[in-house]
Amino acid sequence: MRVVVTGAAGFIGSHVAEAIAASGHEVVALDALARAAAPEAARANWDPLATRPGVTRLDCDLVTGDLDRIAQADLIVHLAGRPGVRSSWGPGTVATERDNVTATRRLLAACAARPAGRRPHLVVASSSSVYGPAHHRPHRESDPPAPASPYAVSKVAVERLTQRAAADGVPAVILRYFSVYGPRQRPDMGFHRFVEAALDHRPIPVLGDGRQTLAFTHVSDVVAATLAAAEAATTGTLAPGTVLNVAHPEPVTVRSAVDLLAGLLGVRPRVRHRDPAAGDVRHTWGDTARAARLLGWTARIGPAEGLADQIVWHRSRRARLGERDLGNGAA
Ligand code: NAD
Repeated sequence: MRVVVTGAAGFIGSHVAEAIAASGHEVVALDALARAAAPEAARANWDPLATRPGVTRLDCDLVTGDLDRIAQADLIVHLAGRPGVRSSWGPGTVATERDNVTATRRLLAACAARPAGRRPHLVVASSSSVYGPAHHRPHRESDPPAPASPYAVSKVAVERLTQRAAADGVPAVILRYFSVYGPRQRPDMGFHRFVEAALDHRPIPVLGDGRQTLAFTHVSDVVAATLAAAEAATTGTLAPGTVLNVAHPEPVTVRSAVDLLAGLLGVRPRVRHRDPAAGDVRHTWGDTARAARLLGWTARIGPAEGLADQIVWHRSRRARLGERDLGNGAA
């Protein structure tokens, strides 16, 4: 099968591209490095893909590039975009709209332009942020969206475009990822900042009071769900337009995650609280019964194992880069 992974220089995309290539498929790893929210992290993921068997890299901006060849794939896993609630406010709103909504609209249009029966299957990344601060929990896929930030609004738009395309004959499904962590997590993300601060003997920077509960989901569980959805979509067992939560079923408080992290690192947790960002959702909890029923998928990695895995990655990254380069967000 010929598979395109968009956002392949990203945190999740680099893992997905590697996993699909390792399962024997031909992968076009697509990314526009100039659009990366964390350019050095993206570069560190992108360079090793050059030597991966079965992977061809393609530097292509989905907003300006020619997507006709891309749409000739059998499967497109669409992970490209601009992530992040905080950075989507103010001047970040335009980039969020561009790289999430316009990019997805163009990609879907290129797929729709293919003859019926020769359109690629798509797996499209969405986010738990579409649920917003709704009180009804755990969040079910049928809950109405309540986006509370420009990022969440953009993901609702991505979902609507995808649903429309699915109704018009483009076989696309949607995955709502919840707070992903693990090796290669971007430098702007919570656990990345927590681990780096603790390893530097700095206070751990926590937004808000730390009592927020989040469904932290390890990236290898996210990869497994994504591959299972791709397989089910291409074999016809997952109907076009299906939306699935991809979440660890047991949310934990940020405070308890920090304590766990400190214990794993053997340090006393020192925390510096900062103001929460507008639009940050305090509680995320995804009902994953649908993914269990349709994909046979359930998240397996709990916070102790998952954080230990992320710490191993930070340590090896630090050894690779040398302690002196670590302040600049390199990954
Ligand atoms: P990431 O920023 O690490 O990766 C996204 C990649 O997309 C980057 O490498 C970037 O260069 C690329 N990109 C951006 N605009 C592009 C464009 N116009 N054309 C081509 N490539 C472009 O993000 P991630 O954390 O790996 O997230 C992947 C997807 O999953 C995103 O859609 C994100 O919104 C979604 N998501 C992530 C999380 C999470 O916790 N990481 C949670 C929910 C949803």
